[in-house]
Amino acid sequence: MNIPHLLALYVALALGAICVVGFVSEFRRRHFGPAHPEDRVFRCGKCGFVYTDDADVDRSRCTQCGKLNEPIEF
Ligand SMILES: [Zn+2]
Repeated sequence: MNIPHLLALYVALALGAICVVGFVSEFRRRHFGPAHPEDRVFRCGKCGFVYTDDADVDRSRCTQCGKLNEPIEF
């Protein structure tokens, strides 16, 4: 392998690394874009307090009075 081949290989590797970094940062930006896009909104049936919780919980406990509440569906 001679010098021009090594240079071409080096440039190709550098460009490839830049592309990989670009793809990863773009993927991360999309993946972590909005903080909590799928949080559920709950409204306490006892004290009326409105709060949010993770999307994977079916019932959430009111942080003010402790009552379990169903999520509000929009
Ligand atoms: Zn409550």
